[in-house]
Amino acid sequence: MLFSEVIGQTRIKERILQAVKEERISHAQMFTGEEGFGTLPLVLAFAQYVLCENRNEKDSCGTCNSCLKVQKLIHPDLHLVFPVTTTNNNKKPKSDDFVAEWREAVLEQPYLSAAQWYRYLGNENKQGMIYSHESDEILRKLNLKTFEAEYKVMIIWQVERMNISCANKLLKILEEPPPKTLFLVVSVSPDQLLPTMLSRVQTLRIPALKDEEIYNMLEKNFDLSEKERRNVTRLSRGNYTKSLEYIQSSSEQNEYLELFMRWMRLCYKQEVAEILNWVDEVSGKGREKIKQFLNYAIRMTRENFLLSQMPEQKDRLVRMGEEEDEFSGKFSKFINEQNIFELAGEINQAILDVEANAYQKTVLFDLSIKTMKLIRK
Ligand SMILES: [Zn+2]
Repeated sequence: MLFSEVIGQTRIKERILQAVKEERISHAQMFTGEEGFGTLPLVLAFAQYVLCENRNEKDSCGTCNSCLKVQKLIHPDLHLVFPVTTTNNNKKPKSDDFVAEWREAVLEQPYLSAAQWYRYLGNENKQGMIYSHESDEILRKLNLKTFEAEYKVMIIWQVERMNISCANKLLKILEEPPPKTLFLVVSVSPDQLLPTMLSRVQTLRIPALKDEEIYNMLEKNFDLSEKERRNVTRLSRGNYTKSLEYIQSSSEQNEYLELFMRWMRLCYKQEVAEILNWVDEVSGKGREKIKQFLNYAIRMTRENFLLSQMPEQKDRLVRMGEEEDEFSGKFSKFINEQNIFELAGEINQAILDVEANAYQKTVLFDLSIKTMKLIRK
């Protein structure tokens, strides 16, 4: 990846370029921040830059032999470590076993999140690990001579998922790595790391992207209306990965908002016959969608409570799309400290009931009856 392909982060890029120029690259650097701020893309661009045979002051050349290989993540001096999950056939997995999948996932979406990666592995509900035996692999690779480049680069993505004994085995090499070795470590939650590891890496905190940077990317890459672009930008809070997810789910969001508005109006007017129709409609959508809708309802209830309590803090606290905003202008008056806890609790309970395979129509109808009362409190 070229630096020019990484969204925003001008100051971080300048800092890296300056360090390379002055030949004071510290050998173990950790990039921390949400995935959607660009931690991995920055690390990929950094790796390409130090391995490039023909770099200029601002960027890699993008065309040399080395660049071509890094761009496909197949450079022999670029080593990749990331969390993996056990499978039926592989009880002792290591990164290399899944490197083809990781390459594919990252090349498709360099702003990859851990959740997306596990989904990619087909194991959404299972957190990955960097297992203890991975440390043997890392040490073995670092003891190899470099194949083609001056540097050997070891990227460790999601380092907080590293098993403690693996991390302990790496401490020594992090402190005194072989010459011309560069560790580029990526972390979302550095607070979960061993202090002994933290003290051995130089930490670079990657800030959120600016709203205008996200907005411009959306304008360049997606066919959205201006209003949709504004909405997605607001909701994603400087996280490009989130903005991509919002685009994917925006049609669902519209559907949920429409259902939610209709539901709340019917509950408020206590139109039981119409509520029954609504319940029929929603329960026809299937268990997963009902759960997603109820989660959406919790978020809307919570945001409306914040809005009703602290209208002056609106921009700071509440992130809603424009249509949600418009509806909430009136609806937030009905959510207050008298009903918020009970309301959110009932919706939560309904989610648990749906998960436990309770009869969906009954769950939704009961919830509606309770909401009819609560909303008038
Ligand atoms: Zn190059």
